[in-house]
Formats: sequence, C-alpha cells, structure tokens
Amino acid sequence: MRFDTRVIHAAQPPDELTGAVNTPIYLSSTFAQSAPNQNKGYVYGRTSNPTRTVLERVLADLEGGRRGLAFSSGLGALTTLLEDLPSGSRIVAGSDLYGGTRRLFEHHRTQFGLTVDYVATSETDAFARALDAAPAEMVYVESPTNPLIGICDLARVGELARRHRARFVVDNTFASPALQRPIEHGAGVVLHSTTKYLGGHSDILGGALVARRRATGERLAWLQNAVGAIPSPVDSFLVLRGIRTLGVRMRRHCEGAQAVAEALASSGKVLRVHYPGLKDHPQHKLARKQMDGFGGMLSAEVRGGASAAGRLLRRLRVFTLAESLGGVESLAEHPASMTHSSVPKAAREAVGITDGLLRFSVGIEDPADLVDDVVRSLRSV
Ligand SMILES: *Cc1c(COP(=O)(O)O)cnc(C)c1O
Repeated sequence: MRFDTRVIHAAQPPDELTGAVNTPIYLSSTFAQSAPNQNKGYVYGRTSNPTRTVLERVLADLEGGRRGLAFSSGLGALTTLLEDLPSGSRIVAGSDLYGGTRRLFEHHRTQFGLTVDYVATSETDAFARALDAAPAEMVYVESPTNPLIGICDLARVGELARRHRARFVVDNTFASPALQRPIEHGAGVVLHSTTKYLGGHSDILGGALVARRRATGERLAWLQNAVGAIPSPVDSFLVLRGIRTLGVRMRRHCEGAQAVAEALASSGKVLRVHYPGLKDHPQHKLARKQMDGFGGMLSAEVRGGASAAGRLLRRLRVFTLAESLGGVESLAEHPASMTHSSVPKAAREAVGITDGLLRFSVGIEDPADLVDDVVRSLRSV
C-alpha cells in the first residue's frame, strides 16, 4: 500500500469485538488476570495499553522500522533514548538543534559526564572528522534542522555512523514520515515530537521512537517501561486521529510554505530565507533527493534585528505568534528570545540564529491569505 492509504489502514483494522472503525480509547490503568501472570497481553498501563499499541504499530509502519514506541513528549522520548547510553559516552551531534534537545544534552554533559561534540549538520566531512577523532556511541541529527532548515545528507552520515559503530539517530519531526523516512537512509532510530505534524492539531503533547532493528526496539521498550514517560490513552488516540490526514496535510503545508518563502524572498525586505524548496537553498538538490517534499517550516532573517522582527510579528493577523509548529494553523515566532533562548547567545550566533531571525510554521489555510498576511506585515519592517 502507498503512504496515503497506509496512514488510514496500516496496523489499524476495525476493532475485533465491535467492528468500530476507530481504535477505542482504553482508559484502564490495569488489566484483569485469570491466574498470576496469565493475561491477554496487557498487565499494567505503563508497560502497555491497547490504544497505545495501535499507535506504536502505525508509527513503525510509517517509518519502515521494526518497533515503534510512543512517549509523553518528544523530550520524554529523548530522555528515554539517552538512558540507553553507558556513562562516559560520546555523541556527535548536528549543531542546529531544537533548543530543548540541546538543553538536555548539556544537562547530561554537566551532570553525567556525557561528551557532546557539535558539528555543522550539512557538512558531512565534519562528521567524518569528528568520528575519526574519537569513538562515539551516537550520531544525532535533525533534518531539516530547527530553526535554520539545514539539510543533513542522511545516507552519507548514516554510512559514517555505521562504519564507526555509532547509533545513528534522526529527529524526523520537521519532515514527518510523509516526506522523509530516515531508516531508508541508514538511521537506526528515528525520533519524533508527535506534538507537531503527526498530531497535527496543536492539541496534545507526544513523542515517539522508531527502531530499525527488533533488538533495539526491545531494549527501548524495556526503557520506556522503566522510565515511564508514556502518553495517555486519550493522547494516543488523538495522535492516531491526526495521522489519518498526515498525507493530505503535508502536501498543503508544502504548498503554503513554498508560496510564503517565495513571497519573502522577492520582497527585498529580508536578508535571507531558509527554505529547501528555494533553488538557492544550499542543499536544494539534496533535499529533492532524500525528501518527497520540502516541508512546512521556513525561517527568514529580516533587516533591522530584534526590533524589526518584533514589529513584523505584531502585525501578523493570520499567523499566530506562538511557539510550536506542525499544526493546521500557521504560527510564527522569534527563536532568539523564544524557542532557542536556552541556547547561549554565542552558540546561537555561531550557528546563525540571529536577533532578526523569524521562524514560520505554515499551516493549511489558503496559501493566498498567508502570503497576503506576510507581505502586508513586511511593510512595517
Ligand atoms: C518540539 C520538538 C522537540 C521536543 O518535543 P516536545 O514534544 O516539545 O517535547 C524535539 N525536536 C524537535 C525538532 C521539535 O520541534
């Protein structure tokens, strides 16, 4: 089956008992046993829950992995993944990362002796040098990156990780499996904030890990139960519900983002637009090769720094000024003071998160209204 069919039918047959076409929400923390340790596969709600199980199977199917695991948030998924690292481990990470990911890496560095070396996400040679320099347990990247929309060459970095026996982890939140399946390019584990495109409606928080190999999946399932950062059955249902429209939503997100990116680029009011669908994006060709669309996220640097950025944000009417992304509604934000304020200013500026940078999550409204909103607001810059 093709992707748009799988989001609706893969791993979610009608309920066996009643024929309900939607997966029921099983609100039960515990499950009756006929004798000690004799049960129907469910014992206690932290370990597993039938609604969550369906979500986990769907996630594994869409990403092409052997095991999917759902979490209470993207950072809950990351916390669980980091629990799998022996003390004294080293991570080679792309430098352009979600602020909370970087904050958690830094916490593990200062508290638990984790070594994290950051290299430019789009520079494959930098990964090669870092991996040659010292052993690493993990290579961790986002692609596209947050907020600069850089692209990692997943196949080449994946091959480097494989050769150096490091687990290759890809945060696929920005692309979603509709546009990119990192396991096809060599990832061992895919991470998601399902809060974003998979949920798709800005109404839940959730996270996911998908393992390429069954053994990795079992190990992470053990940790999922041991750590306990699991989603509620209701939230699991809402992510399943969001996933059913993922294919059609992503196509519209891409269409709107392309239109907004082109409008920004031709406005003469911005220094740079970061969107892989623009021909002058440095990894435009790579994005075309490894993705099935350029996504709904873009960022742009306005002339005039933080005050011009603030003026533009205040004038937007269709875009809402808010953190987060990936919902049906368009959002805009200022990374330096909002999503990435926990990254030290020097580290922020080193990667290019300047005071004039704005990030846009383009929703599925009529693209013409989104373009009008941005063009009108740019007059204030
Ligand atoms: C939001 C986000 C996260 C963190 O997910 P939460 O669900 O907010 O915990 C991780 N990575 C990326 C790329 C994100 O956008």
